[in-house]
Amino acid sequence: MAESVSNGSGTHGSNGNGDDSSTRAAMKDFWDGHCTTASLQDVMLDSKAKSLDESEKPEILAMLPALKGMRVLELGAGIGRYTGTLAETAQHVTSVDFVEQFVEKNRQINGVQHPNITFVSGDAMKLDYEENSFDIVFSNWLLMYISDAELEELTKRMLRWVKVGGHVFFRESCFRQSGDRPRDLSNPTKYRDPKHYHHTFETAYCESAASATACGFELDFSRCVRTYLQMKNNPHQMCWSWSKVIVDKKTKSNDDFYGFQSMRQFLDQQQYSVNGILRYEKMFGKNYVSTGGPETTAEFVPMLKLQEGEQVMDVGSGLGGGALYMAENYGVDVLGLDLSTNMVHIALARAVSCSTGSVLYEVSDITKRQFPDESFDVIYSRDTLLHIPNKAEVFKKFFRWLKPGGRILISDYCCGEGEWSDSFKTYVEQRHYTLHSVKHYGQILRDAGFAEVVADDRSRQFCDVLLREVKRASAERSELVKEFSEKDYDDLVTGWKAKVERVNAGDQCWGLFFGRKLSA
Ligand code: SAH
Repeated sequence: MAESVSNGSGTHGSNGNGDDSSTRAAMKDFWDGHCTTASLQDVMLDSKAKSLDESEKPEILAMLPALKGMRVLELGAGIGRYTGTLAETAQHVTSVDFVEQFVEKNRQINGVQHPNITFVSGDAMKLDYEENSFDIVFSNWLLMYISDAELEELTKRMLRWVKVGGHVFFRESCFRQSGDRPRDLSNPTKYRDPKHYHHTFETAYCESAASATACGFELDFSRCVRTYLQMKNNPHQMCWSWSKVIVDKKTKSNDDFYGFQSMRQFLDQQQYSVNGILRYEKMFGKNYVSTGGPETTAEFVPMLKLQEGEQVMDVGSGLGGGALYMAENYGVDVLGLDLSTNMVHIALARAVSCSTGSVLYEVSDITKRQFPDESFDVIYSRDTLLHIPNKAEVFKKFFRWLKPGGRILISDYCCGEGEWSDSFKTYVEQRHYTLHSVKHYGQILRDAGFAEVVADDRSRQFCDVLLREVKRASAERSELVKEFSEKDYDDLVTGWKAKVERVNAGDQCWGLFFGRKLSA
């Protein structure tokens, strides 16, 4: 289903909480009625189908895990927009659709060239495969046509069908307001909040009788489809890639993430709730959630000597202020990566109204994310890595991901060299930060392989910025109280003053770091 949700085309409904059998029948009727010619336009439901297809297909395929030698299950294959290309590289593709006419067309188009495709005419909800039958499950616009209960069931099944280390990749149309659209069975589409998919996949769990292991999904990344953002101003087309991993039953039941199901939920529901983010932004400046906002960005970014066309990764990109600044001023391509869906989705909603062709945002965890070696010219990260316990490991990844000559620029919360006060310990524990002294931080960068390392203690600047921010907030007190609340205002100002006290006591520091990967 390709039509934009945001353009108000009016044909889109949702199956709401309708019962599953009537939903399935309506869905089948809908597609049967929509496939008079089984053309691309029928399947994509969009008059711009051809140009969209030409641009988005390579984009989606480039996001897939490596297909070579893999057994792929393709669900809701339609007329086989992806089937043939998948089969070119994969060892085998099982391609499923429940509209007979689509399956036939797919067979005609792809069957002869690709003997490694098995075409299945059947309902995705009625499939049954052995445990570990596939390396990859792929679907494009399928899950939005099943109910929440079915989604949960299918997620569990996919977890069983895929091998450990294998992936589930899917793409859906979403929306971000809460609540369902009116029920309209002529188009039984379920535009979910993307968080619903995150939650369903994060909670899926299965135990293997054969190997006595418990498994779950871990997020590789979720991103919006750039083609739709650029061509249709639509940020609601989203892709997800998940890995099947073995989970430790004990830590799973004890809750590894400070009482939350995942680190993402911890961030989204605690420090980076939507209100928390917008409040922070008031202090830091439009599109920023880090010390000094636009000011320090304009001061630090020139250190990188960015060249047009360079590939930059912004780790913990938040609302995208830094990513946009680099793209707009230097003509670089930026991948903004953040684990908080709240951050990424606010950034995406704002991306619609500005020129962001060269900035791409994704939800992913930098500690889990993988990229090919030598993918980036620059890695940039502002006040983010404080959330990450094992910095040595992450810096080694950064080193590998940089091209020879690549640069790294980080600002981060640090700590003094001495014994921590009790109040500082409590602060750090409450937020689950991991802090090092500026000197130690620089050493971790050198140990990861970086040369020309600069480890600059910017604590004085930190204090000056904080005091300026408090002053500005006080001047804008009435607006802040009106937009948020008295309590929000007080929390912010108290929080900022406490930071200043911690810096003056020598507990808290702020570091600026630069490093280079020398050419071999
Ligand atoms: N760099 C941005 C935002 C800083 S706030 C700016 O300068 O405005 C810190 C950000 O780090 C948050 O958005 C948080 O969600 C993100 N973050 C925390 N842990 C992360 C992880 N493991 N992977 C990716 N992002 C993470």
